[in-house]
Amino acid sequence: MTDLPHELRGLLAKLFAFDRLELVRVLGSEDTTRKFLFRLGDANLIESVLIPASPALYGEKSDRRTICISTQVGCAYGCKFCASGLEGFSRNLRANEIIDQILAVEREGGEKIDNIVFMGMGEPLANFDNVMCAIRIINAPSGLGIGARRITVSTSGLVPQIRKLADEPLQIRLAVSLHGATDNVRNQIMPINRRYNLETLLSACDYYVAHKKQRLTFEYILIAGVNDSDAQANLLAEHAGRLSAKVNLIPYNTVQGLEWSRPSRNRQEKFLSILRADGIAATLRSEKGHDIDAACGQLRLQTNRKERRQITV
Ligand code: SF4
Repeated sequence: MTDLPHELRGLLAKLFAFDRLELVRVLGSEDTTRKFLFRLGDANLIESVLIPASPALYGEKSDRRTICISTQVGCAYGCKFCASGLEGFSRNLRANEIIDQILAVEREGGEKIDNIVFMGMGEPLANFDNVMCAIRIINAPSGLGIGARRITVSTSGLVPQIRKLADEPLQIRLAVSLHGATDNVRNQIMPINRRYNLETLLSACDYYVAHKKQRLTFEYILIAGVNDSDAQANLLAEHAGRLSAKVNLIPYNTVQGLEWSRPSRNRQEKFLSILRADGIAATLRSEKGHDIDAACGQLRLQTNRKERRQITV
């Protein structure tokens, strides 16, 4: 737009971006979960996952089309079981890059998304301002018009930001990735717990629940021999009971190069039954996505490695 004054062009370039996500790969799975790998304007890769119907996944029963989106390129939090942290942290996504994942998946899938979970690559609350900016646009009638109760933000346990989110007026849902019911277990697999231990995290959750009108969810990836004992189930039931939280159990998706594995189906069901016996609303996620490497960061990791191999050859 060379007819515009030079200074105005500089300002426009600073304030606006016209990048569009480039679709690199789509992996469909038998149960129709689909995973999308996108290339950003600076060549970094991110992932989004479309889960067409997810009964009782977050909130009400559903014929909803849920998208799980990324908020960062890589992740600095280094949870030991996670593919996203394996190559470290590159950068935060901007609000437009967060929203673009929804638009691009709608374009590809030909259907409107009506449920959003911030649970892909990255720690959403570590990119608080961009995530909140994206949420306001997603929620606005002039934006995507998706109700705040259909937006779930997850966190591995960033206590100050949980409190900050609680003070936001929008009724956004919160999912806390607990993955361990004691400091011992969380310290072993989630370095963030050394900064904010379990009790500090649970009191931030108390604060959140006191300020919002909907239920909090605990995400709990079941990892064989690490966090799947009866004792962990009993303590988890205690924490969930204290907060009237729902528990979403997720059998571990194996990640190439990592030592962890999922417990047997029997163990998973026993764990679930302990929670239910204590009156906790708990679900055990079905196998959706296991066959397409749906654990966050896996597709990106494989593609990055493959592209590096090609460059070396
Ligand atoms: S589980 Fe979440 S917070 Fe932990 S390393 Fe993976 S993306 Fe980061």
